[in-house]
Amino acid sequence: MNSHETDYLVIGAGAVGMAFVDTLLDEDPTSHVTIIDKHARPGGHWNDAYSFVTLHQPSATYGVNSMEMCPDRVDTDGHNKGLYPLAKHAEILAYYSRLMSERFVPSGRVTYLPLTEYTGGGEGEHTARSILSGQEHSFKVRRKLVDGTWFKTSVPSTHKPAFDIAGGTRFATPGDLPRLWMDTDNLPQHYCVIGGGKTAMDTAVWLLEAGVPADKIDWVRPRDSWMFNRKLLQPAKHHIEDLVQFQIDLVECANGSENGDEMFAKLGERGTMLRLDESVTPKMFHFAVISEGEVALLKQITRVHRKKRVTALEPAAMTLGDERVEMPEGSLFIDCTASAVPFEQRDKTRPFFDGDTITLQLAQVPFVPYSAALAAFIEVHFDSDEEKNNLVPPAPLTDTTDTYPYAMMANLMSTAILSGNEKTNAFNAKSRLHPTGPAIAEMMAKGDPRLAALAKVGPKIQTNMPGVIKLGMAAKAIHEGAT
Ligand SMILES: Cc1cc2nc3c(=O)[nH]c(=O)nc-3n(C[C@H](O)[C@H](O)[C@H](O)COP(=O)(O)OP(=O)(O)OC[C@H]3O[C@@H](n4cnc5c(N)ncnc54)[C@H](O)[C@@H]3O)c2cc1C
Repeated sequence: MNSHETDYLVIGAGAVGMAFVDTLLDEDPTSHVTIIDKHARPGGHWNDAYSFVTLHQPSATYGVNSMEMCPDRVDTDGHNKGLYPLAKHAEILAYYSRLMSERFVPSGRVTYLPLTEYTGGGEGEHTARSILSGQEHSFKVRRKLVDGTWFKTSVPSTHKPAFDIAGGTRFATPGDLPRLWMDTDNLPQHYCVIGGGKTAMDTAVWLLEAGVPADKIDWVRPRDSWMFNRKLLQPAKHHIEDLVQFQIDLVECANGSENGDEMFAKLGERGTMLRLDESVTPKMFHFAVISEGEVALLKQITRVHRKKRVTALEPAAMTLGDERVEMPEGSLFIDCTASAVPFEQRDKTRPFFDGDTITLQLAQVPFVPYSAALAAFIEVHFDSDEEKNNLVPPAPLTDTTDTYPYAMMANLMSTAILSGNEKTNAFNAKSRLHPTGPAIAEMMAKGDPRLAALAKVGPKIQTNMPGVIKLGMAAKAIHEGAT
């Protein structure tokens, strides 16, 4: 048994655990942290992701507070042309590895145990096991256990599909596609993308950009999705006016709408939200961010199967519900049905701060790393659990157009709470993970004329707030009824 003593035992070296530790190291200059993770490297699920994955949001507000993720310049080619960069798979992994080996461990205040699984405990005594050696570890935790695994992120390579696959069926995950060049005598004659989320969109874009004709791609997309228009979510220091307009669009479209669908339709008309097919009313909203360039590419695929999920695959056919659909011989079926954020977690929120345990969740949706960094700041600078939890009621993890107005309302309330507190307001102003805080602070310091755009937001929110609350409360009832 290997015995350790530490102040904070953090389970998970993913985006959440890393953002928490990074801020803790700066805000509390004395505490010691031990991070354990089943993976061999920091970066969590990004280790298992397909090699062509990128962030879908600009890198400017992803990662940890102390380190930028990508250069501050726009992409000059590809479907993100003209927009600020989205870190690629290799960049994300390199970022978290550098952070661990160049900042965390050399600080002398972090012990990192990769390939180590947490096995349980409580009341300051916890255990873990090294996965390859079987070595047992015990931890005396002087302050808190920090659970950085709440999101239960699922990616295709670690997910088990919920349908039958007959022998001889050509089946792949997105991560297999970049290896197709290794077997050019046996290339698929046709492709079928299964899933309606962002992974499926990334996969379809990858195939199209690799030169596969759109009519050689079938797409099983049982539910369509609305998506944020990435053009409007560019870094605040360059595009504060767009972010202001984005916020105004949300509240104006919520006010007066009878339901989420009506609100999304209005946002769609303004170009704030995008969809892949104008003739379909999307019911899903998973906070995905997409460029107009990607949408234009994806619209080329017209062999779309809607309504039914895949229940079985055969070499030249698939079953959708109870309907059998013939497919060309040599079709490759690509499983994109893993849910990046398993929304089953939506009814499992708990207080962030509960005695000797911190559960890292969302303070605002969908700001994953920001929420974790904020939790570290609050842990250090506030005293009682009650005081801490009042600052960060867990945000609802909504997943449909019907329920998103609840998340939107909760975000506005969270913003009011955090900006109303001097300490958290100051944290937002310096946190690079916050979508607008540092940019606004810098503009204020310089008396930047673009601040005039900001002045519009407050009155617009105030005028539209009654409608936002009405719609948000109705959405809350639907969300709670579904959980
Ligand atoms: C393809 C894809 C793209 C995404 N793009 C974005 C984006 O652009 N922006 C955004 O905000 N979000 C994005 N997300 C959401 C993403 O899930 C979060 O941003 C974030 O990476 C989640 O990090 P995490 O640390 O919570 O989870 P994980 O990355 O899953 O990390 C949790 C870690 O905990 C470890 N662990 C679990 N149980 C144990 C145990 N018992 N013992 C030891 N270790 C354990 C796991 O090994 C894992 O390494 C994306 C998700 C996917 C799948």
